[in-house]
Amino acid sequence: MIREGEVRFSNHIRVAIVGAGPAGLGVARVLRDLAIPDVWVLERGRIGQSFLNWPADTRFLTPSFPGNVFGLTDLNAISYDSSPGWSLRCEHPDGAAYAQYLEQAQAAFGINVQCGIDVRSIRPEGEVFELETNAGAFTADFVIWACGQFGTPSDGGMPGAELAHHYGRVRRWEEIPGGVVYVVGGYESGIDAAIGLARAGKDAVVLDSGAPWLDSDKDPSRNLSPYTLQRLESVRKDLPITLIPNADVIALENEADGVRILVGDGRSWLSDGPPVLATGFGSGTGPVSEWFDYDADGLPMLTPQDESGAAPGLFLVGPEVSHNGHLFCFIYKFRQRFAVVARAIAGRIGVDTTALEIYNDNNMLLEDLTCCDDDKCLC
Ligand SMILES: Cc1cc2nc3c(=O)[nH]c(=O)nc-3n(C[C@H](O)[C@H](O)[C@H](O)COP(=O)(O)OP(=O)(O)OC[C@H]3O[C@@H](n4cnc5c(N)ncnc54)[C@H](O)[C@@H]3O)c2cc1C
Repeated sequence: MIREGEVRFSNHIRVAIVGAGPAGLGVARVLRDLAIPDVWVLERGRIGQSFLNWPADTRFLTPSFPGNVFGLTDLNAISYDSSPGWSLRCEHPDGAAYAQYLEQAQAAFGINVQCGIDVRSIRPEGEVFELETNAGAFTADFVIWACGQFGTPSDGGMPGAELAHHYGRVRRWEEIPGGVVYVVGGYESGIDAAIGLARAGKDAVVLDSGAPWLDSDKDPSRNLSPYTLQRLESVRKDLPITLIPNADVIALENEADGVRILVGDGRSWLSDGPPVLATGFGSGTGPVSEWFDYDADGLPMLTPQDESGAAPGLFLVGPEVSHNGHLFCFIYKFRQRFAVVARAIAGRIGVDTTALEIYNDNNMLLEDLTCCDDDKCLC
């Protein structure tokens, strides 16, 4: 909680960016390149808070490599001129290391960040937005919502979900009780959980409605990454990990000896301790959800500038951005939209956008969304 007098911005600011993760800091950097003044990133925790909350031994799947000077920006970089691979000397950083990279980027680019501000709601009021926060109300001409999804674990409404631990709330796998631990969900976080549990000396059993470890979709947002498949293959030789496909878990029930895991086809397993739910994350747009419409997959519907249709001037950046059925859910994908949002804001306040050409040169300005109609496109 911040104390009175600690807030460093005035009652009215030009652009309020909510969330100091890669999306918020990345779009702030582009606005800085355009010399747009009075831009503030508001963060309820610390810079990179989601990464600080990751399980301690979880690592990035997408490799970091400093190819920037040849126009191949590090996949996990938030800007064309930074590289976690170079600054951390690490190809697959863990969450704490990546948060450190974000702090370095904030300092190097001189981005204004105010930590300790929890934005609870926003409301358009005439030409401006009114923001309600734990530190009082203030107004902004533009709001960019950059709150990610890690703070909103989803159990998909599963009955009995309270009997389990959600992946997004686990910090150390050793802390999960039980010798055999069942993991519901076998996508990236489920496999990461299984590896973490097995390394912590437990037998990990993964139940999934399909078999993501066998899928071969070319979009890594819908498929296990090569890094995860490689990790899985190497640890399964020595560690007790069982993968059970076609087990669609529909409910958890409390029993005298543990938690009963019920599957749609009538099978069930009895777990002596709490299972782990690796069932994904919900929308992080909660406090601004009334200003977006959502498609059948629950994704916010956006204008071509990634703006709310109902509240012009409110933009969304980060992993929930989607267009034409394509998800921008990795950093190397969603960073391609930062310059689109920045250009829209610059255009409205009459700022020259020539500085954005460098984003084009570095594959960080994906404007032509029709390219996503192409079946071969991996964007
Ligand atoms: C286990 C795991 C592994 C992953 N591996 C990869 C990978 O290898 N490569 C990759 O590209 N992506 C990866 N991702 C996805 C990636 O972490 C996210 O896409 C990315 O963090 C999203 O960035 P963001 O800035 O939108 O959100 P976040 O990083 O979640 O940042 C949002 C920030 O907003 C703050 N916030 C939230 N609500 C409020 C509020 N109301 N007021 C103020 N502040 C608020 C939060 O505290 C947080 O600091 C992984 C995700 C997970 C969970």
